[in-house]
Amino acid sequence: MNVIATSVRRAFALPLLLLACSAASAAPSDVTAVKAAHMLDVRSGALVDNAVVLISGERITAAGSQLAIPAGAQVIDLGNKTLLPGLIDMHTHLTGDPQDAGYSIIAKSVPRATLTGAKNARLTLQAGFTTVRDVGADAYTDIGLRDAINDGDVPGPRMAASGPPLSITGGHCDDTMHAPEYKITSLGVADGVDEALKVTRRNIKYGADVIKICATGGVLSFGDDPRTSQYTLEELKAIVGDAHRLGRKAAAHAHGGDGIKLAVLAGIDSIEHGSYIDDEGIKLMKEHKTWLVPTLYLGDWLIENAEAIKLPKPLLEKAKVVLPIARQNVARAIKAGVPIAFGTDAAVYPHGLNAREFGILVKLGMTPIQAIRTATVNASELLGWTDRVGTIEAGKFADMIAVDGEPLKDVKTLENVQWVMKGGAVVK
Ligand SMILES: [Zn+2]
Repeated sequence: MNVIATSVRRAFALPLLLLACSAASAAPSDVTAVKAAHMLDVRSGALVDNAVVLISGERITAAGSQLAIPAGAQVIDLGNKTLLPGLIDMHTHLTGDPQDAGYSIIAKSVPRATLTGAKNARLTLQAGFTTVRDVGADAYTDIGLRDAINDGDVPGPRMAASGPPLSITGGHCDDTMHAPEYKITSLGVADGVDEALKVTRRNIKYGADVIKICATGGVLSFGDDPRTSQYTLEELKAIVGDAHRLGRKAAAHAHGGDGIKLAVLAGIDSIEHGSYIDDEGIKLMKEHKTWLVPTLYLGDWLIENAEAIKLPKPLLEKAKVVLPIARQNVARAIKAGVPIAFGTDAAVYPHGLNAREFGILVKLGMTPIQAIRTATVNASELLGWTDRVGTIEAGKFADMIAVDGEPLKDVKTLENVQWVMKGGAVVK
């Protein structure tokens, strides 16, 4: 079927569906009221007691303390729980699993990876993450998954998806596992300005919401060094400039200090990982208001489970060196006031455990509310979705979670989300 015809049909189908719903159930019975003992105002950091959130369709219409509930509204009473905005993870790979690290990925087909994505989308949503930015997937599996979630075919978070990440030949996001005679090159490989522009535009053509660039070497890749930069400033400027002109943000995988600086100078919107960030990089990121998306909990999980997932030895050796250094450097960046958005790199460890990153952020010097902001207001700003997600406010999607306990005292309560609503529908 013709892709354009399909998207035109989708564009028409949605307004018709909305009309049908509002005609069938006139106000006020289409209003849902969610009540909870407490609600966290993530902007001020204050707890609102006797919270009431009014929802019509997918969106919040009002939120506050002791609001009047319209007659006929459906009431969901969460008792003593605390309501928070749905959480946002800015760095996932939903179509991947930990055991895909190393050579086992070679035997995994594109359809199989897509179904892995359907499983992980559900797990992520159930864990309270109602929005993710998926930064790197082979063969556009992430774009297919995003569309299936948006069409209501499978449960999952809202997704901003990148498609295949851009990489130099032999870079972190190229396949370096095959001997030359197999002639294997990853889909996102682009060398030089012309090829980089072509792949950026091709990714956008096939549905990318965000452009992902592998700017330095990585940990879970063979034959490269996380400390070295991979793209030149000229190439990075071309990619980021084109992404921005076409209305997309750009995210750079960057461990090494030089690659971080080059990406920031090229106008990148976020640095992913940032392991070897130095004082100069910290200063530049603050000046350019570039977001840092640390992904640190994975270090604990990966080293504990390396044997179970048969992680190849060269990759484990790199992980043991890079990950402790990353914690020290990211702690310095946090302390210096680099803007931080929440990320996990889930796929390196099992999806659904995303909230374990909060505890690391607090360990590295954040207060619980600062850590919670990274996954709510900060993340929505980096996504450019402040009109949609990140707070419990009128006009936003009714994406909310509820927990027992006090997340402002113990951020680990977020590892045990009891109730999840996405777009006004209870999904847990
Ligand atoms: Zn990643």
